[in-house]
Amino acid sequence: MPTKSILRHVHVETPRTNHRRKCAAHKSGTKAHHIVAGDTHLVVVEDDKTFRYCRDAAIDILDRAQDDLNTLRQKLDH
Ligand SMILES: [Zn+2]
Repeated sequence: MPTKSILRHVHVETPRTNHRRKCAAHKSGTKAHHIVAGDTHLVVVEDDKTFRYCRDAAIDILDRAQDDLNTLRQKLDH
């Protein structure tokens, strides 16, 4: 049996069209922006909803995930 993948709700996309996709981290205010063609970004699918995060936000999200994974691994090692 292959090792189970638990990150299937997370992937990276680079859109080819300029369809307006809101950045979920910057939806309003002065930092609000859209993700357009060529913007490599992080896609998170939760409960059939799709959230798209620009590269800056994605770095923070992946750093957080890395910390969470390290914490889980440390708990297993005890
Ligand atoms: Zn953003």
